[in-house]
Formats: sequence, C-alpha cells, structure tokens
Amino acid sequence: MNSDRSYLQYGLVTFAVHSLAGWLCFGFELDGYMRTSFKRRPSGFLQHLHKRGGGTAVFRYSVVEAGSDFVHSRNLSFPDLKNKKITLVGCGAIGSYVVPALVRLGAGTGSGSLSLIDDDTLWPENLGRHSLGYPSLFKPKSAELKAELSRQFPMSKILASDENVAELPKLFDADLVIDATGEEAVSEMLNARRLRLSSRTPLLHAWILGNGEAVQALWTQGVKGACYRCLRKSGPGDLKEERYPVLKAPPKRKQIACHAFTPFAVSAAMNAAALATEVLVDWLERGDPSPRFRTRIADNADVHKVKNQDPERLSRCPACSDAR
Ligand SMILES: [Zn+2]
Repeated sequence: MNSDRSYLQYGLVTFAVHSLAGWLCFGFELDGYMRTSFKRRPSGFLQHLHKRGGGTAVFRYSVVEAGSDFVHSRNLSFPDLKNKKITLVGCGAIGSYVVPALVRLGAGTGSGSLSLIDDDTLWPENLGRHSLGYPSLFKPKSAELKAELSRQFPMSKILASDENVAELPKLFDADLVIDATGEEAVSEMLNARRLRLSSRTPLLHAWILGNGEAVQALWTQGVKGACYRCLRKSGPGDLKEERYPVLKAPPKRKQIACHAFTPFAVSAAMNAAALATEVLVDWLERGDPSPRFRTRIADNADVHKVKNQDPERLSRCPACSDAR
C-alpha cells in the first residue's frame, strides 16, 4: 500500500481469512474523494486510515466455497477420486451414467484425469436410454459426453478418444479401468489383455442381463479371485455355460427393419451404473471392493437369485489359468 497505487481504483477493500473455524471475511469502503487525493502519494491513504480515517465502518460478509476440493468431498466421509487416473471404456447407455457419477466423485481433479474411450456415434435409437440427448445426435459419444460433463464441471480434466479400444497401447496405464461396454466380446478382450500384460490395474466390469431383469458388476485385479472369463464354465463338455445363472429364459429380441437388438429400459442402464459406482465407493472407503461380484435383481423379475460374493478362479479358465 506504500507504493502500489493499483488499489486506488477500487471502491472497497476486502479480506478473507481461512481459519480453523471457517472463513472470516470483512472489508471497508475506500472513500472516493480520498482515493483521488492520494493518487500521487498512495502511502498517504494508509496514514489517513491510521488517523482520521480510523472511524471507517468495517463490514462483514460471507463466502461460499465452490472449488472442486469442497464440491467432490462434501458428501463423503472418505477420499474421493482426486489425483487418480481413470479410463472408462464404453460411452453407451451404461457408461453415460457411470461418467457423471465418476465426475461427481472427483474424477479428473487434482493431478488426475478421466479418459473416455468409445468409437461409436450417438444414433436416434440410443437416445431413449442414454444420458445425452438430441444436441449430441450423430456426434461421437465420447467427445459429447466429455463436452457435457466439462460444461457442468469445468475444473475436471476429461479426455475423449474415438479410437478403437483394441488399438490403444496404454489402456492399462491408469489407476483404474472401467469396462462399461456391456458387450461380452469386448469385456473378454479387455480381460485377456489385462492378464496378458500382468497388469495390476483394477478392471471393473458392469453389464445388464437380459431385458434388464438384473445388472451385474465384477471387480478384477491381478490374479486374485475370478477373472471375467471365470464367470463361464470351461471344463470338458462345458459349452461356456454360465457359472451363476440368473435368467430363466433367453432375453426378448426386437427387430426394427433389418436391425435386431435387445430392448431394455433406461432404468437398467442406471442400475448397472449405480452398482458399479457402489463397488467403486467401497474401494475408496475401505480399500476393498469386496464382494467383487455383485448382482442386483429388479424387484418384479422372475429370475434365479445369485448372492454377492468373491468368486474363486476356475482352474481350467482359458483366460487366467496360466496367469501369474
Ligand atoms: Zn479366469
């Protein structure tokens, strides 16, 4: 204040002190006449305040904390996803609800990042069960999801790639990889790749069963416990039957023009995303995602019940039996 005259352009001065008891904020007005008078001698204002200006009224004000450290940890009693490098594969129906949850849990803040991988485009048939809407139609899902979440949370570092996941060499160079594709062939490919690399990066799969009668999630890490392929039998004579069957009948298929698909409601995608998020929360809170294999059944679904558990590896698993 002795030589810096820049403060003279302001009508008031404010102070915000971050104390153990919270923010202590106060300020006072800078008299317009005095500011003009002391333009050539800014130190004079200080002397004025010490003497005749000492009677200047001090006002209090409050501040509202809105930074990412506060926003993402405010509702948690454990560390959030700050500083973690997270890669999500699949920005379809399931991924589109996983991503908003990850960002709200602090993904992409601090030194962390959230990479979204999907080479697909948003088509009209996706809109009924995807978190994005008409403004993103015919545009890349990953880039549009990044744009939407970046608009909501500009301080989160979100990256998007529309490359084929099979061609990404550093996929497992992360603290966590999430497979939200819900496509068995892609999940098997990711599982095989993780095992081939002997990666210690956790891989969390989430998918929908049938027409949404149930959703499942599996956390895999290293060679401890079952891998994704261990969820299907692989002994002599086994035809990849499910190890823990849930559905009593094959899912209904729908045909529109020459395109056949499995219909399910948006609630199934949201349930799968919520289940994956809960596994993640247990990992953050307890350092242990157990039970690593979880099944959530829709209330009115007529299916076999499967308990949540930590399944063991299958000795004959074609994917992990040789993995170390
Ligand atoms: Zn296995």
